[in-house]
Amino acid sequence: MKDDSKPATSAPGLNHAEVAIATQAEKDRKGIERNTKFLKIDMHTHILPKHWPDLKKKYGYGSWIQLDHIEPGKANMMMDGKNFRTIECNCWSSEQRIKECNATDVDVQVLSTVPVMFNYAARPEHTLDLSRYLNDHIAQVVAEDPKRFVGLGTLPMQAPELAVQELKRCREELGLAGIQIGSHINDWNLDAPELDPIWAACEETNAVVFVHPWDMDNKGRMEKYWFPWLVGMPCETTISICAMVMGGVLERFPKLKVSFAHGGGSFPATVGRIQHGFEVRPDLCATRTKNGPMTYLNRIFVDSLVHDEETLEFLIKKMGIDNIMLGSDYPFPLGELHPGKMIEEARWLTDEEKTKLLSGNAIKFLGLEHLDNTMDEK
Ligand SMILES: [Zn+2]
Repeated sequence: MKDDSKPATSAPGLNHAEVAIATQAEKDRKGIERNTKFLKIDMHTHILPKHWPDLKKKYGYGSWIQLDHIEPGKANMMMDGKNFRTIECNCWSSEQRIKECNATDVDVQVLSTVPVMFNYAARPEHTLDLSRYLNDHIAQVVAEDPKRFVGLGTLPMQAPELAVQELKRCREELGLAGIQIGSHINDWNLDAPELDPIWAACEETNAVVFVHPWDMDNKGRMEKYWFPWLVGMPCETTISICAMVMGGVLERFPKLKVSFAHGGGSFPATVGRIQHGFEVRPDLCATRTKNGPMTYLNRIFVDSLVHDEETLEFLIKKMGIDNIMLGSDYPFPLGELHPGKMIEEARWLTDEEKTKLLSGNAIKFLGLEHLDNTMDEK
């Protein structure tokens, strides 16, 4: 199994919890109950169970993430004796998550696992077993507070037959809205014909797909400066979008609902170049579809996580106001620490546009029309 990162401990600086505490303190001082009039649905958040079985012992091989709880409210995600990332209780405690959501006026979190848990390189039956465990956990968290949480499952994508089986369970038994998948599956990009049955099953069960970059190159020139996250992730996402477009996935599956993390990575800024390449070298690019990437901009949904207001403005121009959904990458430090703040404070956006970005588009994408009633009660 591949390790998708160098071991890293959490960096100093503000995290989501500290921002939430500071925001709540400010609200308390001002006597403000709620400082946004917008329903906020955070499309991109990660969660883990507090505990899970010793997977190396259970499966008898491999490098698996295990949580080492080092002090109350803090744990190291250990892989092969090395710390992959230090996390806090907001990664597993729904009570803490709700507290922080309340402090930042987030109404609903869409929960998905942490990509390092995908484990597509393990034996399919073991990835299936772990996926079931993680999906059951997410479904349980949602069941305990269905007004505040929506769930996305994880699948053994390297074994499409098992993936379809688990997808159906996620939709039909667990009531999850869809799946989060990696930007590639081992050596397959997302245009691999082997994956077609999964896309067909997503259409059939009306499951949404959220594509998250992972398993970035982290060797040699990519070793320093957090490059795999800062440079590698946007590139990974771009490859996944281009594979789905040029590989004809979006053409063959016209009802497939797919969204991409981190504002679509570098795709929106480079789509002109990619379209141009598609036109001048059809022998290389237009081998599986005659439609270039520009054709599919209205089919590609992205989250809002770009960390720069001018980039957000560009993203809206390029991808369309109806195709962008609030996503914060909670509870990790590379996310938007106060989810939705950039959108809420953007003076150049109308209230109608903010409503779309903060919740309206996600409601349509995820099929959460029933949540509108929840908002009325606020
Ligand atoms: Zn993420």
